[in-house]
Amino acid sequence: MISQQVIDKIFDVAPIEEVVGEFVTLKRAGANYKGLCPFHDDKSPSMSVSPSKGIFKCFSCGEGGNIFQFIMQHEGLSYPLAIKFLAEKYNIEIEEGQIDVDELKEEARIKEGVYACLEFAKNHFYERINSSQDGKVIYKPYLTERGINQQTIDEFYIGLSGTQRDHILQEGIKNGYTSQQLYDAGLVKKINDDQGIIASNLRDTFLDRIVFPIFSVSGKVLGFGGRIIKKDTKAPKYLNSPETVVYEKRKELYGLSVCKQSIRKNDAVFLVEGYMDVVSLHQSGVDNVVAASGTAFTEEQARLIKRFTHHVTMLFDGDEAGVNASLKHIQTLLAADINVKVVLFPPEEDPDSFIQKRGSTAFHKYVSDTSKNFVELIQAVKLAKNPSDPIQKAEAARLVAENIAALPDPLKRAAFITETSNNLDIPERIIIAEVNKFRVNSRKQKDREERRVQHDNKSAISEGPPPGFEYQPDYKQSNPADLVDNKNYQEEELLKTLILHADKEFNENLTVAEFIFNEFEEEQIWPISNEFSQIFKDAYAHLKEHKVLNELYFIRNAKSSKIAAEVLSARHNLSKGWEDNYEKFVKSDQENYKSHVIDNLNYLKLKHIDLLMKENQEKLKIAESDEDIMVLQQIHDNLLKIRRKITDQSGTVIS
Ligand SMILES: [Zn+2]
Repeated sequence: MISQQVIDKIFDVAPIEEVVGEFVTLKRAGANYKGLCPFHDDKSPSMSVSPSKGIFKCFSCGEGGNIFQFIMQHEGLSYPLAIKFLAEKYNIEIEEGQIDVDELKEEARIKEGVYACLEFAKNHFYERINSSQDGKVIYKPYLTERGINQQTIDEFYIGLSGTQRDHILQEGIKNGYTSQQLYDAGLVKKINDDQGIIASNLRDTFLDRIVFPIFSVSGKVLGFGGRIIKKDTKAPKYLNSPETVVYEKRKELYGLSVCKQSIRKNDAVFLVEGYMDVVSLHQSGVDNVVAASGTAFTEEQARLIKRFTHHVTMLFDGDEAGVNASLKHIQTLLAADINVKVVLFPPEEDPDSFIQKRGSTAFHKYVSDTSKNFVELIQAVKLAKNPSDPIQKAEAARLVAENIAALPDPLKRAAFITETSNNLDIPERIIIAEVNKFRVNSRKQKDREERRVQHDNKSAISEGPPPGFEYQPDYKQSNPADLVDNKNYQEEELLKTLILHADKEFNENLTVAEFIFNEFEEEQIWPISNEFSQIFKDAYAHLKEHKVLNELYFIRNAKSSKIAAEVLSARHNLSKGWEDNYEKFVKSDQENYKSHVIDNLNYLKLKHIDLLMKENQEKLKIAESDEDIMVLQQIHDNLLKIRRKITDQSGTVIS
């Protein structure tokens, strides 16, 4: 592993404005710099770089951190390789044995090989649909018949797979790729699973298919979706590349790389079911459109959309399958705090056929005439036949409540509860009770999942990477529970307070950091969230070792630098909403940091007490002797007393 001295040396000699300035044109803005963010499609400079703090932060897409995070994100390197990258640039020697460069290079080399393979295949397939006999006679005419023109084929790089079972295998090898690389790229698969990756045991993944390359947001080919056009076959109509080292289905959206500008410009996106819908709408001028590959729509995909817009209109088939799929998608989108509308197409139509037949003006009119929010959708679907059927009505109300429960914003929840109450003519309090039931259940479930993940992480530690190598660029995204409820909110707030004030005085004897960690130890309330607990633990270890903990530590520590960048970034040239929030936050924080510390610690205590009470209750359920029951009852009463004391102190009641 790389020693902290080397890392510190790099921090000392590599000014952030110089590291970032290598890739981004920076202009001075007061004490800081600003420039166009390279991590999203930036039109006006949203990225701020602070030389004094050594951090960058994009106020539009949220990317931020220290010099290493910048290089990791920009160059697609792992943490150790980013260190090596900067060490070489600034002539700082990394001692032999400190880094297993070969191993890291190996990983990077495999990925490079896979990307190269996929790029080759994309060009080859594209070439085939345009120039091969099959392409010209069968496949291109098929696309033409479906209304897809040459410009669209070019724009989306639509291609034709092999028509023999080892076509891309042979072509790939002829062009210098190994069978292993073709296999890693998902272009070929094994015939016999028990046998090795040798040419004789491999065949093409895509056979006789029109292929749609799936691009990353930044335009790299990750895989393909293939559509069969022959009718006399048992093969599935659509087939996707398998998951590979570069392709994770749950994180990608088809069409985003082509349509992202338009999505941002329109501040809205259409979400459709298939590749053909994307391609066809795009060609008709509706070019803010994406499709989720696969049937499930994931939280990762919702977050990806959120980088470009908060407004999604789903365009789905009006049949039962389409309705059910749209209901599932809605909940994921609502939980990500995205505004969702749904448009269902008549049974014999889909967005593709609709726009081909009637054009974009009629399409937009249909969308605005028939789009529904989830309350209206559920009502329309469940109560279509008999609007006053009490059983159907109860079912509709329950389904609506389940969706309302997913909304993170309490104001939106309240608004939808009122709407539902009016629409279904059911008293608000009954809907509120139902919503609460779903929220409590989902919280319980998330708690269980989190504990399970923590448990898994613990058991994996012994085989994990050495300290300093554990950086996960998306640690913030690794906890989907946050999207549903804010149960890590207090830990996050406490961490932010700690980053801002660690070395300030808390009382005569203790700094803020010392006070917080004392409380953790004495009250046994160490943070338990997946997301922040390790940051707290590392900071405590640092404090014990070096007797000092300040913001510099959090900026330079790989795990905390992103959140440090978030709280420490200057607030010039920001969007209005963010500016207001930040101002409020900073102002109240400077004045009240001591009471913030106390409040947040109290919340943590409550959380731990609630856990203890829950455990105790479980024991009560199975206790048999009177004596046991009495003891457990006493414990319960004591916990309750402590709980009441804390809530009295902070003047808050938490349900
Ligand atoms: Zn950005």
